[in-house]
Amino acid sequence: MNKELELWKGVLSDGTKKSKLEKYIKGWEEKIGSFLEIDLNRGAYDSNESGALAGIPFGVKDNIAVKGFKLTCGSKMLQTLVSPYSATVVSRLQQAGAQVIGKTNLDEFGMGSSTDNSALQQTNNPWDTERVAGGSSGGSAACVAAGLVPFALGTDTGGSVRQPASFCGIYGLKPTYGAASRYGLTAYASSLETPGILARTVATTKDVFDIIKGEDERDQSSLSYEAEGGQVKTIGYLKIEEGALNADVEASYKSSIKRLEDLEYTLVEVELPTMDYVVPAYYTIAMAEASANLARFNGIRYGYAPFMAENPNELMKKSRHEGFGDEVKLRILLGTYVLRSGFQDQFYVRSQKIRTAIRNDFEKLFTKVDSLVMPIFPTAAFHHGSSDLDSFQQKVADKYTCVANLAGLPALTIPSSVENGLPVGVQLMAPYFGEDRLFEIAVKAEEKYPAPQPEDFDLEWLS
Ligand code: GLN
Repeated sequence: MNKELELWKGVLSDGTKKSKLEKYIKGWEEKIGSFLEIDLNRGAYDSNESGALAGIPFGVKDNIAVKGFKLTCGSKMLQTLVSPYSATVVSRLQQAGAQVIGKTNLDEFGMGSSTDNSALQQTNNPWDTERVAGGSSGGSAACVAAGLVPFALGTDTGGSVRQPASFCGIYGLKPTYGAASRYGLTAYASSLETPGILARTVATTKDVFDIIKGEDERDQSSLSYEAEGGQVKTIGYLKIEEGALNADVEASYKSSIKRLEDLEYTLVEVELPTMDYVVPAYYTIAMAEASANLARFNGIRYGYAPFMAENPNELMKKSRHEGFGDEVKLRILLGTYVLRSGFQDQFYVRSQKIRTAIRNDFEKLFTKVDSLVMPIFPTAAFHHGSSDLDSFQQKVADKYTCVANLAGLPALTIPSSVENGLPVGVQLMAPYFGEDRLFEIAVKAEEKYPAPQPEDFDLEWLS
């Protein structure tokens, strides 16, 4: 086990440390609100006392099932639901000894880039509480960045692990599609999403990945993990159009390229011709799948039921009208629209073709370079509300992250610099099952340029 996890081991079984942790969490939570539900005891029963990670706390995004904890998905629709079972990625960690201490806030059903779309709570960035922690795994990113847990689980459908990791100055891994089981994830866009890891060190990211990865008989799309085994000499960096990134992010991106050169990699500028089509294709597919996946929440089998309804139709109508937030409704409507008979060729089929073209682009690219470095988001953490970026601009800004989901490739956020008081990350990408390439580069970068910490980050009490 790595040094960081060694330090955390047994914290929850040591009375003194546990109460210090409790106090530390309380102090931070008043400022950041990263957890929707927190309980330092409840999860103990399901964790293996003799596992290597015994007594180590972790957080779980509230769209991933943990037995005995709520599963709200940040939605009024599921506000009272308690999960009767645990996701495979969660039970694997519990088997290894780690203990869930709570469920973290998110944009409703994972739809957003700020966590402001949560119907239940606001989450603030530990670096500046007037700003968002990013999204949709904003709660998981914030609690890890503040040091409340050594790692947390999130989900990444179009960037929801990597973007908040960048906004909060930590590592965020989106594994290869199929490398980690989706059993127990509340589906938003099934062909794009995967569980992911948010952590403060590369070693912890890797150790957690080793535990959660691999085939699961409960998820037919999961695959047995065979590391692809390649090494990294050449790294491509994506050519960025003038003005596409704000000044801070551009400066940070340039310095990351320089740093990788200092680590003795060969860097070459590359282009992805399909990049301009990524956002429309992503949102067409994501919304189409969302409209189907969210059809199950109708107030009958699941979810919020209205106070009164005259008949089943009215019940469903009221339940969906009152239970879903505006962003979710917008996406269900658009998803239904693109799937309407007669329109499929124009939208859905076309997007699938773009998806194939994107995959081909990457296939070609990875014959020339061993890894790829690119920006994550055009800005650092923005202010709450829509004064910096409105909801449309936030979607356009998903360009750099959602491309990995369309292709199914692994990608890792590494913290790169602090600009005007805010952390900015950069992402590395690799071929399918090339997670080791990402870790290899990240370890070297981390050694030379350790991740910065926010003010009030203080793990003195641990040692
Ligand atoms: N911002 C993207 C969206 O809203 C990504 C969400 C995600 O990865 N869950 O769809």
